[in-house]
Amino acid sequence: MTTVDEPAPAAPLAVPAEVPAGTSRPRALVVGAGIAGLAAATSLHRAGWRVTVCERAPARRTGGYFVRLAPEGVEAAERLGVDESLRSRLPADGIITGVDGRGRTTSRVDAALVEDGVSLALVRGDLEAALWAGLPDEVEVRFATAPTAVADDGTVVLDGAGTRWDLVVGADGVRSTVREMVFGPEAAFRHDFDHVVISAVLPRLPGRLVEGDYVVLVEPGRTAHLMAMAGHDPVVFFTYRADLAQAAGTDPAARPEEALRAVYGDFDGLMPEILDLVAEAGTTHADTVGQIQLRRWSSGRVVLLGDSAWCPTLYSGHGSALALAGGEALGRHLRVPDDPDDDGARLDVPAALAAWEAERRPGTRTARTAARRARHFFLPGNRVVTALRAVALRVASWPIASRLFGSGARTRDADVHRTVTASSGPAAGPRP
Ligand SMILES: Cc1cc2nc3c(=O)[nH]c(=O)nc-3n(C[C@H](O)[C@H](O)[C@H](O)COP(=O)(O)OP(=O)(O)OC[C@H]3O[C@@H](n4cnc5c(N)ncnc54)[C@H](O)[C@@H]3O)c2cc1C
Repeated sequence: MTTVDEPAPAAPLAVPAEVPAGTSRPRALVVGAGIAGLAAATSLHRAGWRVTVCERAPARRTGGYFVRLAPEGVEAAERLGVDESLRSRLPADGIITGVDGRGRTTSRVDAALVEDGVSLALVRGDLEAALWAGLPDEVEVRFATAPTAVADDGTVVLDGAGTRWDLVVGADGVRSTVREMVFGPEAAFRHDFDHVVISAVLPRLPGRLVEGDYVVLVEPGRTAHLMAMAGHDPVVFFTYRADLAQAAGTDPAARPEEALRAVYGDFDGLMPEILDLVAEAGTTHADTVGQIQLRRWSSGRVVLLGDSAWCPTLYSGHGSALALAGGEALGRHLRVPDDPDDDGARLDVPAALAAWEAERRPGTRTARTAARRARHFFLPGNRVVTALRAVALRVASWPIASRLFGSGARTRDADVHRTVTASSGPAAGPRP
């Protein structure tokens, strides 16, 4: 049986697909300087490609939002040699506190319960900064540049001029225009969760929170996660159901602060101050939550990578790791032959892309499935699920349950990726 996740058979190429040994190095254009694009740029350069990156934004992005980098991503960062600067910004021995809309504490869970000793609590900008620092000097980066046309023979129109590339990597995120131009309209591949996600970096901590606190504010159909991160301004992200009565008439993409006021305006406790801080700082991301499912990730000389190809959503907790590992793996599969005397040494680009895709498919499928299940726990739809969630978290915090579910025994190299602050110590929980 063919499922939507299985790679379809490779289509024949309209242009020569082989890169002969000994010729001048082939050229790759990477569209998007996010996690996936930067990882791919470094990896392809190492594999013998001449790489150009074009990024729509006028400058390098910083900050962003909280991301937990799963072990697969940490390992890929190690292989790329960019792991040294990555330090977890939340203490592994902190407390995650659940709070309801009236400001009452509903659960307190050891962060160790979700710790595996390898994952890193970061902001997206940490990852991108590490990848930027590791980007080889020979990689050309053009900011404020986005393609206006892409064809699967590798022809791309950039700044009004058309150029033929040996490889085009569409690493331009969940709203990918490379995907739109080569594979078709987004609606054909997007499975919407009908949730909204909005994130912000706050100028200071609300209430009496201290560094290391992690607070989750939950009401049916509405959550907010606030992390008091070490060495960084606090970050918060909100997820809520798009069909809530409170959300009617709002436009989160165009006026996110206004939408947040409408949806969370009735919360007590920390929320009024959080909303004021968001209004002061502005938001860093606002979109609906949706997964991308494509039968194939490449067409001719164009390959999609990261969220543009397989977006599993934030609920999987694996989007950044898969983007990083997928980019790193691309170079491993597309190594340019370096022996000019070996007539038989040729890089078969479509075959290499098919092998790369076969390697990457299972992990993305698992992450997307996990996200579809987790979304109900992450964003409980009604009072019953909200209550069950709080009870489950309370049970999980009992000492015996912690021993059963906890991951202390799995801790590896805990001293290698310590939190950046020794001073954080065990978090005493929030003081709203
Ligand atoms: C609030 C939130 C929390 C998250 N939490 C986690 C988490 O805890 N763990 C986790 O693993 N993942 C998490 N994720 C998901 C994770 O951030 C993404 O999966 C990851 O960033 C995908 O990286 P990417 O490089 O594929 O895409 P993106 O990060 O979207 O980067 C795309 C890049 O392409 C650029 N671009 C876009 N269009 C064009 C164009 N036309 N031309 C040129 N450039 C273009 C963009 O400016 C951007 O630089 C979270 C996401 C959100 C929103």
